[in-house]
Amino acid sequence: NRVMIETAAKTYPVVIGERAVETITSFLDEMDKKPTRLFIIADESVRALHGVRLEAALPSDIPADWHNVPAGESAKSFGVFEQCLTRMLECSLDRRSLVVAFGGGACGDLAGFCAAAYMRGIPFIQVPTTILAHDSAVGGKTAVNHPLGKNMIGAFHQPEAVIFDTLFLQSLSEKETRSGFAEVIKHALIADPSLYEDIRSSVNNASDMSGSFLEYCLKRGIEIKGSIVKEDELETGVRAYLNFGHTYGHAVEALSGYGNVAHGEAVACGMIFALYASAAKNGLSFDIPAFAKWLKTAGYPVESGTMFSFNDIYEVMTRDKKAYGGTVRFVLLSKIGEPYVTDMTKEELQKIDEQFRKEAV
Ligand code: NAD
Ligand code: ZN
Repeated sequence: NRVMIETAAKTYPVVIGERAVETITSFLDEMDKKPTRLFIIADESVRALHGVRLEAALPSDIPADWHNVPAGESAKSFGVFEQCLTRMLECSLDRRSLVVAFGGGACGDLAGFCAAAYMRGIPFIQVPTTILAHDSAVGGKTAVNHPLGKNMIGAFHQPEAVIFDTLFLQSLSEKETRSGFAEVIKHALIADPSLYEDIRSSVNNASDMSGSFLEYCLKRGIEIKGSIVKEDELETGVRAYLNFGHTYGHAVEALSGYGNVAHGEAVACGMIFALYASAAKNGLSFDIPAFAKWLKTAGYPVESGTMFSFNDIYEVMTRDKKAYGGTVRFVLLSKIGEPYVTDMTKEELQKIDEQFRKEAV
């Protein structure tokens, strides 16, 4: 199973499936310039769980150095970034070396940025291990966090390949599974009504987000992300559609103190909010309460939005980099599969917030 991602910078494969990791050696053999050294930046929890399988899949004729980073979001700090670069220098990596990102979206963002910054850019591949990473590993956005803002320091740097072994996903917690799957639902809503219907009829809880159905969803999600990235690699236009559900979602995620409500769980709330906004602003016809109820049944904490006052949520949304003046920039749908970008006023948002609290929770 393979999806090609086309960008101005390069075209690269996403190999997806059980045991995909076993294709790494042949992929490296076929590279134009076969790497002379590997540097694996690994989420330490992921390494403990799955390091043996990756290690076994690496070629025996290329020297490899491993570097552990803290699990999850804490990897995306200046301190960890600097430690990685120090190790990379100590290992004398050069432009023929290849960085391997082994972990979820956080590790991928960090390792990609290390590869982008080291000697002004050396190649890297992504070996993602979360459902969410079907989104984050594709498209070339890399970053670390600054104390003043998440993902504010980064670069566009496309990987040479994404090797997405779905067996790694079996050890994800239910919360991480749900969180990542929210991005699949997002891809369906912004681009593919029939995928959305498939998901609605197949998924009732987190355990349905697995196996061959999950693999099918991930492949479709990656194709959708790939086609948007192809059109707008540097996010000057349609790439913004990928922020569907994220304006309100980011606010909930930030207010809950990052982690309590997982990213995708917050995005699920944000999608409900954006659907109400779409109905109010553009007459979207969609049974939003039924959608919210389905998400709740599947375990999404839909009520998270109501833990905070509208004013607090509004304040965070206007602080977000996507805001202009007193209005907040939103991705809405004119139909399922047809997104557009619009600015919402405080008054409009307040009405939708009231509706969200009354009907969705
Ligand atoms: P994550 O990388 O923070 O991982 C979440 C937790 O799951 C961690 O504790 C990790 O150790 C653990 N984990 C990872 N793989 C596992 C596995 N197979 N089994 C068991 N546990 C495992 O979370 P994430 O949701 O994958 O990524 C979130 C990050 O992705 C955020 O930093 C976000 O900013 C970023 N992101 C980037 C993009 C992009 O385009 N670059 C897009 C979306 C999100
Ligand atoms: Zn997201």
